[in-house]
Amino acid sequence: MAIQRTLSIIKPDAVQKNIIGKIYTKIEDAGLKIVAAAMAQLDQASAEAFYDVHRKRPFFRSLVKFMSSGPIMIQVLEGENAVAKYREIMGATDPKQAAPGTIRAEFADSIEENAVHGSDSLENAEAEIGFFFGDDEEGDDSEMFEEFEYSDDLEDGEEGEDDVFGDDEDDGHGHGGHCGHKH
Ligand code: ADP
Ligand code: MG
Repeated sequence: MAIQRTLSIIKPDAVQKNIIGKIYTKIEDAGLKIVAAAMAQLDQASAEAFYDVHRKRPFFRSLVKFMSSGPIMIQVLEGENAVAKYREIMGATDPKQAAPGTIRAEFADSIEENAVHGSDSLENAEAEIGFFFGDDEEGDDSEMFEEFEYSDDLEDGEEGEDDVFGDDEDDGHGHGGHCGHKH
């Protein structure tokens, strides 16, 4: 089984409940390593862009409102089979259906306010990681946070040049705090 990376978000309900640490413990106990993390508050356009695949679903407007309602904690997880492993410890979308011991079974209140997000495939994991943590090499400015230094366990991992939030002096946008994805 390969070492993978996946995107995790601790949603506004769980940040508000002050259980970031409890969720991090579940992640760590599953053998997944947090290799990047940032707190941010999504604006409406960013939440819409992130959940674009759900644009036609009846709950889309409500989901966007919820996801932009308060700070979230965004992290990249790395480990063996990370995409499926993290989905497993998250539990089902609806906490009532979530297996005992999963994050959603223990900490989620409803099918919408369900504490965490996790990428559902390796392909989407790459896209979602790129949404928040791009590399600036092509001059592509569309991601929220500057390139960060991954752990170097991953075979094709490249050495990063910047710290997680980089140096704000040059452009003054997009690094932590309240941020919008579209500039
Ligand atoms: P998951 O987060 O488990 O991958 P989906 O991708 O299907 O689930 O949905 C994305 C998010 O939209 C869910 O995590 C949840 O916050 C919200 N959501 C999904 N289904 C519903 C629903 N029926 N009613 C309200 N919100 C929903
Ligand atoms: Mg999903």
